[in-house]
Amino acid sequence: MSLIKLEGINKYFDKHHVLKDISLEIEEGDFMTFLGPSGCGKTTTLRILAGLEHQEEGLIVISDKLVADGQAQFFAPPAERHLNLVFQNYALWPHMTVFENVSFGLEGRKRNKKEIRERVESSLEKLQILAYKDRYPSELSGGQQQRVAIARAIVTEPKILLLDEPLSNLDAKLRVEMRAELKRLHHELRTTMIYVTHDQVEAMTMSTKIAVFSEGRILQVDKPIQLYQYPAHLTVAEFVGNPANNFLDATCRESSKTTFHIHSALGEMVMSTDWIERIEKDVVLTVRPEDLLISRTPQKGSVSGTVRAVLPAGPETTIHIQCGETILLAKEMGVGTYLPDSTVYIKANLEGINLYDRTSGLRLN
Ligand code: ATP
Repeated sequence: MSLIKLEGINKYFDKHHVLKDISLEIEEGDFMTFLGPSGCGKTTTLRILAGLEHQEEGLIVISDKLVADGQAQFFAPPAERHLNLVFQNYALWPHMTVFENVSFGLEGRKRNKKEIRERVESSLEKLQILAYKDRYPSELSGGQQQRVAIARAIVTEPKILLLDEPLSNLDAKLRVEMRAELKRLHHELRTTMIYVTHDQVEAMTMSTKIAVFSEGRILQVDKPIQLYQYPAHLTVAEFVGNPANNFLDATCRESSKTTFHIHSALGEMVMSTDWIERIEKDVVLTVRPEDLLISRTPQKGSVSGTVRAVLPAGPETTIHIQCGETILLAKEMGVGTYLPDSTVYIKANLEGINLYDRTSGLRLN
């Protein structure tokens, strides 16, 4: 049973159709990330879920309760949706101390002073900022301010926590640290978290599920590893993964009842037909850099190429190889041993190959 259900959400800003039939289910305890490039509708979806923005069409159900129905113009106020939001720009009160900022949400909820203090201190402790409780926001670093904003959001123990690019104002090192913190917090609190980002590494490392957005639509909702290995759409295959995926023009030919041949810059490969639902003549083939096997001598089924660039990144090295007209990216573990302008032989791991319909962009295998 899902905790949150969005069904057929359509949203317009003036005549601009920004959300197109968004449907999504989120399970209790999920860390769901909305991933996609700028302007694709992630924040608007989050705000509609929170009740800060209203959709023209579509339903929202939280814990089996209908909280919004666009056509009926029914929208439960944010406070009745059992969720809390953390924004990109912390939005802390400058004239209040850390303690006061965090306790603000608890006051007026008929709690005694002792209970408030215990709960605030427990939240601050979870975010490892208890020592700063008497400081003002201006006396904290960006990372500490962000922790205060998160402590304030969890102090009321919301069932659902919404986070809109919460780490984007932090420097690269702090962002990596905070990813681990948020993941630990999710594990500890078991709160359902919905996280907005355009950073695919952030999405891959933190989420239990990712919804990939593009131009107001959701292209795929899946576990991170599924999304990486089997992108449902070319746009997902392009957006997820670093270094980038390889895209090759390819032609398919059925060669027997059980096999077909596929021809591309990687040569001729023979695949089994039950691997693919329907064989189309012209397709796009993708293969991740780590699924290209490089060698110095020809191997059965390999094609030759020329090393164009070698990009070491510490534990691994990315190698750009020219194969005919196509530049392919391959990976070598450790410090690269291939030299620019040398001839190499490459071969694809068949299990790492996906084929896509050229027109619709949908995966065929
Ligand atoms: P970003 O990562 O840049 O925040 P996003 O994926 O979250 O992008 P949204 O903020 O949801 O995208 O915006 C979706 C589209 O709706 C964009 O084209 C944006 O310009 C438009 N939009 C968002 N808010 C408004 C508004 N209040 N009025 C008019 N257009 C808006």
